[in-house]
Amino acid sequence: MDSVKVNGRSYRMPARPVVVVCIDGSAPEYFEDGLKRGLLPNLARFRRQGFSALADCVIPSFTNPNNLSIVSGAPPSVHGISGNFFLDPDTGREVMMNEPALLRCESILAALSRQGRRIAIVTAKDKLRRLLGHGVQGGICFSAERAHEATEAENGIADATALVRRKTPDVYSAALSEFVMEAGVRLLETARPDAMYLSLTDYVQHKHAPGTPEADAFYRSLDAYWGRLEQMGALVGLTADHGMNAKTRADGTPDIVYLETVLAEGLAPGGFRVILPITDPYVLHHGALGSFATVYLRDPADGPGVRERLGRVRGIVYAEPRAAACARFELPPDRVGDLVVISGANVVLGKSPQSHDLSLLKEPLRSHGGLAEQRVPFELSAPVSAAYRDRARAGLRNFDIFDYLLNGTAA
Ligand code: ZN
Ligand code: ZN
Repeated sequence: MDSVKVNGRSYRMPARPVVVVCIDGSAPEYFEDGLKRGLLPNLARFRRQGFSALADCVIPSFTNPNNLSIVSGAPPSVHGISGNFFLDPDTGREVMMNEPALLRCESILAALSRQGRRIAIVTAKDKLRRLLGHGVQGGICFSAERAHEATEAENGIADATALVRRKTPDVYSAALSEFVMEAGVRLLETARPDAMYLSLTDYVQHKHAPGTPEADAFYRSLDAYWGRLEQMGALVGLTADHGMNAKTRADGTPDIVYLETVLAEGLAPGGFRVILPITDPYVLHHGALGSFATVYLRDPADGPGVRERLGRVRGIVYAEPRAAACARFELPPDRVGDLVVISGANVVLGKSPQSHDLSLLKEPLRSHGGLAEQRVPFELSAPVSAAYRDRARAGLRNFDIFDYLLNGTAA
C-alpha cells in the first residue's frame, strides 16, 4: 500500500525520511527576529527553497493537546487530549493527561508503523513520551529527560545517552531541547527512520523573549540542527505547539486574574471548581499560570450568571459554556468544564493567591494557553504543490504539517 488513512485523511508513504520538529512555545517572532538579523541561515534557506506560512494551533494553546494533534492530524475532539490536566468526572480528581488510555484515536506515526515504516520519536520531557508513542509498532521512542533509563524493550534503544554522546540534561535547561535535536541527527545517521517526530521544551521561551541573547543562542543552535537534518536527506517540517507572550503589568509583575476569588463573590464555597489545564509537574517556569481555564459548577443553573460576571472582569476575553467552547475549539465535551475561560495576551488565570508560588518565578512571567498564543510557524524544507499553496490561503493548522510533508511535497 502506498498510502494509509488516519482520522479521515490519507497520507502517502514517505519516499525519504520525514522529520517534524515541534518547537515548544515558538511564537513566530522568534523566527522573524532571528531571520532579520541573519541568525538562522538554514531557516532562511528553507524559506527560499521550501514553503513557509503561519498556522493556528489548537486551543487551549498548551503542550499536550497540540502535540497529540500534530501526530494525529486531528483536533482534540478526535484524540481526546483536552489539556495537560482534566477533572475525571468519575473520581472528581484532577488527572494528568499523560496516559495512553485517554487517547481516542490512532496517530499518523502508529499507522505508518503498521505499514512497516520505521518510526522514531524523541521528546524533551517524559510526560509526552507514552502518549506520542502509543500504537507505534517497533520503532524508537524515548525522552531526553530519561535518556539514561532507555531500554530496548520499552524504548527501542538501550541507553540513549550513548547515542547522543551526552549525559541526560537537566529538565529545566535549553540543553534538554538540544539533546532532542542531537538525538534526531544521530538517529537519522544510524537507524534512518522513515518518519521522525522531535518535540522540544519551551524552557527558553518561558524565560526569554525574542531578541534576547539567550533566545538568540538557542535558536542559532536549533537552526544548525535543522540544516544538518536536511543535508542528510530528510524532508524537514517545523512548527510549534503554541506561541508565548509576556504576562506582566507595566512594572513587570505577573498580571493574574484569580478565578476562585472572582467566583467566590457570587457562589457558595464548594459551588465551583477551577481547573487550570496548564498545571503539570514542571511548574518552575510558569508557576502553573496560563491563559486558559475551565470551571465546573455544582449547579449548572449558575452558569449564565457566572459567565456574565466573568465577562465583565478586566483581562478575561472569553467566557462561554461548554457546548459553545467545544464547538468553536473542537474539544471533547466530556473533558471540559461547564465554562471555558480565556484571558488576554498579557494576562493569566490563577486559582487563588495562595495556590501559586510566585517566588518560583525568577524572570518576568511569560506563558500561553489563550487565543493570543495561537499563531505558530509552519515551515517546510521543500516546496508544496499549487493545490497545497492554495489551501494554505484559507488557513492552516499546526496539525496539517504531516499532510503537507507527505502529501503536499513532490518528495
Ligand atoms: Zn508547549
Ligand atoms: Zn509552556
